[in-house]
Amino acid sequence: MARTTPLADIRNIGIIAHVDAGKTTTTERILYYTGRKHTIVEIHETKDLKTTTTTDYMEQEQKRGITIQSAAVSTFWRKKKINVIDTPGHVDFTIEVNRSLRVLDGAVVVFDGVAGVEPQSETNWRLANNYNVPRICYVNKMDRSGANFVRCVDMIKNRLGSRPLVVQLPIGSEDHFKGMIDLVEQNALVWDSDDKDAKWQVIPVGDGKGLADKLGIKVPSDRKILDDYAKYRAELVDTSLEMDHDAMEKYLTDDVPPTADVLRACIRKGVITSAFTPVLCGSSYKNKGVQQVLDAVVDYMPAPTDVEAIKTVDADGNPIGERKTSDDEPFSGLAFKVINDIYGALTFVRVYSGVLTKGMSVTNTTRGKREKIGRMVEMFAEKQNPIEEARAGDIIALVSLAETDTGDTLCDTDHQVVLERMRFPDPVISVSVKAKVKAEAEKFGAALGKMVRADPSLHLETDRETNETILRGMGELHLEVTLDRMRTEFGVEGVMGEPQVAYRESFTKSIDEHYVHKKQTGGSGQFAEVWIKFEPLERGKGFEFVDETTGGSVPREFVPAVEKGLKIQKEDGVLAHFPTVDFRATLHDGSYHDVDSNALTFEIAAKACFREGIRKAAPQLLEPVMKVETVTPGDYLGDVIGDMNRRRGTILDQIERGANIAVVATVPLSEMFGYIGQLRSMTSGRASFTMEFSHYDPVPKNVADEVIADVAKRRAALNA
Ligand code: GDP
Repeated sequence: MARTTPLADIRNIGIIAHVDAGKTTTTERILYYTGRKHTIVEIHETKDLKTTTTTDYMEQEQKRGITIQSAAVSTFWRKKKINVIDTPGHVDFTIEVNRSLRVLDGAVVVFDGVAGVEPQSETNWRLANNYNVPRICYVNKMDRSGANFVRCVDMIKNRLGSRPLVVQLPIGSEDHFKGMIDLVEQNALVWDSDDKDAKWQVIPVGDGKGLADKLGIKVPSDRKILDDYAKYRAELVDTSLEMDHDAMEKYLTDDVPPTADVLRACIRKGVITSAFTPVLCGSSYKNKGVQQVLDAVVDYMPAPTDVEAIKTVDADGNPIGERKTSDDEPFSGLAFKVINDIYGALTFVRVYSGVLTKGMSVTNTTRGKREKIGRMVEMFAEKQNPIEEARAGDIIALVSLAETDTGDTLCDTDHQVVLERMRFPDPVISVSVKAKVKAEAEKFGAALGKMVRADPSLHLETDRETNETILRGMGELHLEVTLDRMRTEFGVEGVMGEPQVAYRESFTKSIDEHYVHKKQTGGSGQFAEVWIKFEPLERGKGFEFVDETTGGSVPREFVPAVEKGLKIQKEDGVLAHFPTVDFRATLHDGSYHDVDSNALTFEIAAKACFREGIRKAAPQLLEPVMKVETVTPGDYLGDVIGDMNRRRGTILDQIERGANIAVVATVPLSEMFGYIGQLRSMTSGRASFTMEFSHYDPVPKNVADEVIADVAKRRAALNA
């Protein structure tokens, strides 16, 4: 089969927004205007289907469709294929943003024209910077009371530290929002009504004089923007032409103004190199400006071949080469999302190079496993399209892969590579979880296992002492949503304990520890002796095991048992049973007995050696510290800061945000439970906040003592 869409005609984009900025509405309109008119109704209707357990085939297929659509959907605009990859807005799901940013080539960042740049947008913007994602900005909700385009552009500049390039000006605002000036084409686009199918008139702007009167704009601040038309147009031309020397020269020396095509080519170049970010405006809800956003995606967003080739890495994640975006290279792809539902696993893959065909056998190089490619699908609005092959640049879903998790590389078995990985933060909060009904424990366990496999920011473990199942995640909401999805997707209900902070343990001194495990039971005995040196490592280094034994003091075959013993035991720290992190354990001596030694005796000796050693190495408790941003009206500033201080917070910055002030602080996570309620009552509900993980810090002694006592009490109660 030949390629149907040329690579240059593909746009893999995400729509990034803070919660409520209008991502859902904008996406719905995009699907509507690209020609799939029933979609809008169906998304809402099928949301409710999730809770039913009917087995009607059509309905299953439809549900499947919704699942796929929630991750990626394809559509066409001006003969270009646009794949829209979902990115969630809530910071608890930064992980999801991370994984989508990894696979998309460009993003439309949606802002609420009233609120402007909100903390979550900043977080997401920073993540997009990390992944070098070209962006265009869309200031939505221009029809809302309080909408202010110019302020939003200023915030994009000052708060996000980016270089905005205004390519449209709003015609009116709030109730009087009529459309926008296209500064590239120099036309006013004025809509006839708020209808979905409303047409817009195209009125040439000319030199822009008397524009406000011509368009019937009365409000002074709205008139001001139009009065500044010539200034904005000049800025657009000057900035764009930085990308094209010849055109710049013609313009400056010969006074030849650039054509719209030249400007568009320049803007495209500027976007792809992240030299600047075009800013558009509109109202998705009132159906104004969405088609122009689609035009901008086609005109300005990169094709897969316009961005840097994907890097290939070695076992430690260091870059060693690249894979070109081309059908002629061997196949490689990245699994960026796994969704499990009652019908099995759906693995979303971005194909980076080569061609993947149905029936092919490929290698998962991350896990060293083979995978057979069965059914492949692509989601076209509400319709699932089975496909026979996928090519470089495509985003597809594979049905029922057995071994592949999020972040894994799939590739041609004869040309193996590992693709650059996604970065995942460590979970900071944990809860005990169990099935609501005891009889469903097994089903619950299986579903939980699937959720964890699909989401690398979830971790699962069993507390060895209490036997509770512990689920760790990025925030309270993240864990709640996980259980909720198990209910809707797997039909099994769970209950959660109180959320607990994911403390960690480390130690501050090196220690060389010796342990002999010796036991005589009846005839046979048990014997193993180990000398292990424990040294603290830098924060974030994890655990290293080194074998420095010589002369067979510990026989080769028992060394892995020592490592295994340490790995198990380090998860159960000596202070309060939290995992011990950031240290090196060097096995450097030991002895054995011909008959009484075996793997098990060495494992036991290693565990005991760890327990005894760490106790003497000045162990300390570490706690996750969050970066918290609270936006409050100035009147409550003193209260907000006082409260932060009581929560052991450190104030980093205070930033004016329109009439409000944003207080940026680092605060230990343990002090943040119940913050939302306190903040509401303190500010009569007028402040809001966001938080994200920042780093781990040692816990002050008095607080650590309390935590340790608390854990001991809880465990005693559970064991009673
Ligand atoms: P998301 O959380 O970013 O997906 O936001 P939604 O698309 O769900 O929109 C949040 C709310 O804002 C909904 O009530 C929408 O109807 C409303 N909304 C979205 N776009 C606009 C707009 O352009 N104008 C107005 N006035 N409301 C909008």
